[in-house]
Amino acid sequence: MPKTSDKRITLSFDNGPHAEFTPMVLDVLARHDIRTTFFVVGQNLVANRDIARRARDEGHWIGNHTWSHSFPFREKGDADFVASEIDQTQAVIGDLAHEDKLFRPYGGAGRLDGALNAVAAKHLQQHGYTCVLWNSVPGDFRDAVGWPAAAMDQISQLESPLVVLHDIHGEAMTRLDRFISQLKYEGYSFKQDIPPDMIVIRNGEPTEALGSVLAKKI
Ligand SMILES: [Zn+2]
Repeated sequence: MPKTSDKRITLSFDNGPHAEFTPMVLDVLARHDIRTTFFVVGQNLVANRDIARRARDEGHWIGNHTWSHSFPFREKGDADFVASEIDQTQAVIGDLAHEDKLFRPYGGAGRLDGALNAVAAKHLQQHGYTCVLWNSVPGDFRDAVGWPAAAMDQISQLESPLVVLHDIHGEAMTRLDRFISQLKYEGYSFKQDIPPDMIVIRNGEPTEALGSVLAKKI
């Protein structure tokens, strides 16, 4: 008998779109009737905008995940860099954008410390963005085989899991279908809404969580 749990999981996919692997991920999500958010990298979106459009048309949300995914703001955080990383991508997302202008910073292997700096936080507030962080990074980018077990472990310890996966790693994503089936078997269900405590700026307004993220020691 499947176990039951009232826990609901939010999945998100970062760093795409990818010509081959994002459609594969979309097929899996459609089969399971799950909607998520794709946080896209501007440079990848230019090459694969039709795929992001497919995602949007299938009910997924499209968020902004920087233009170049090159430096976390802790390493490069001046106003010009911040503005171009954020606004160039938002311009290319265009009419595919979620109305809340979702943005997720590049943490660097999931690091939250310094993922956001004061300059970026100010820019996001001034331009009405909604800044979304994360609480589960199971490491599909470094362990194509082991990430589902790591994700299971993290999810079991979280009240409202917001899981970061990457639709650019084909071998890892071949395990997505079985991973979702396992979660369903364990009694979990899925929601598209971002857990509120993962939002540090909402439509330009700072939330309670912003201060603690900016204060994290690097
Ligand atoms: Zn990323």
